[in-house]
Amino acid sequence: MRRLEWTLPTLLEKLREVLHFSLTADRNNPGWYYAKAANDLRPNSVVIDLIFFRIKIPIPTEWVVVYGPNADISPLRYDVDKEETDSSITQQEELRAWVRSNLGRINQVQRLYSDVTDMPAGSLSGAGLKTLTSENLEDELNGGPHFVSLTGHGYSGGVAHLNEGLMNNLTNGHKTFIAVADSCLTNQFDVNDAIGEKLVKYPNGGAVAYVGNSRYSWIGIGDDFRLAFFKAMKYTRNLAMLNDSRCYLAGDTNGRPYKIWTIFEQTLMGDPEMNVYRTDLDAYPKYIGNHKTKELHRSTCQWVKRMATWNMRYYDSIEEGINLGYDGCAFCLKAYDHG
Ligand SMILES: [Zn+2]
Repeated sequence: MRRLEWTLPTLLEKLREVLHFSLTADRNNPGWYYAKAANDLRPNSVVIDLIFFRIKIPIPTEWVVVYGPNADISPLRYDVDKEETDSSITQQEELRAWVRSNLGRINQVQRLYSDVTDMPAGSLSGAGLKTLTSENLEDELNGGPHFVSLTGHGYSGGVAHLNEGLMNNLTNGHKTFIAVADSCLTNQFDVNDAIGEKLVKYPNGGAVAYVGNSRYSWIGIGDDFRLAFFKAMKYTRNLAMLNDSRCYLAGDTNGRPYKIWTIFEQTLMGDPEMNVYRTDLDAYPKYIGNHKTKELHRSTCQWVKRMATWNMRYYDSIEEGINLGYDGCAFCLKAYDHG
């Protein structure tokens, strides 16, 4: 859940107060919520009827209603912030550990964190740990990483120091990266343009693909989706299918309204048919025909592993194989399967 906090900077200290989100806040119950409109202060939410129950999802708007004592309703400013900021590091470390044990060829990792004081024990060791600053991030992105996993307070203009200003310093050329962001709004495609789209369109480098949220990301939920994306890499290298991994969480009853929300608004910028390399083996031909059975497979298909090497024929495209008389595998190339 997001949180609202107000800040009163003084010369001596910062005074801060965290206000509680509540769809039922009123004169007798302090709290805050997003209102429908400037002239309609009822809580803004959408009710979704599922088969067995209905869920009420609060929808953020630009209007916030706050009930509470004077200090709460007339601060110098409000901030909408995520709770548990430290969890973002824990979640990135969880992702790193998963990738290390499951995708062994992805073995060069650089970690840029804004605050390492709360890092889990044992994770401080190892190479590539740096403070997250604009300069360090720019250096690393110019090195041309394959994947970039982003976390932090996002808005359409950027996240974690990655904004248009930094982008304009990128010179990574054709060594573009695939970014996956668990942040609010960095893929808000209804503005011109959010950072996700900007990075993909950036002519001197930037990203070749960007997976992010077109709306708000929910704390404790967004990182599950990012992890699902990388987990799907065990089974496919097709970029669209990697982004479709978000749909695996549809049946998850834990925090379900927020998961359904994310399934609707997690968006991919880039060519959905692009193949994502997970190991150097992926750089070999994309389609493999069985010369004996005349079946054509994706190189990642489980049947390829059982094929005798002397029966393998390599093709760059489906069409190349089909034109030579192959039929698509019923498992991995269903659309081209004619039985
Ligand atoms: Zn197959």
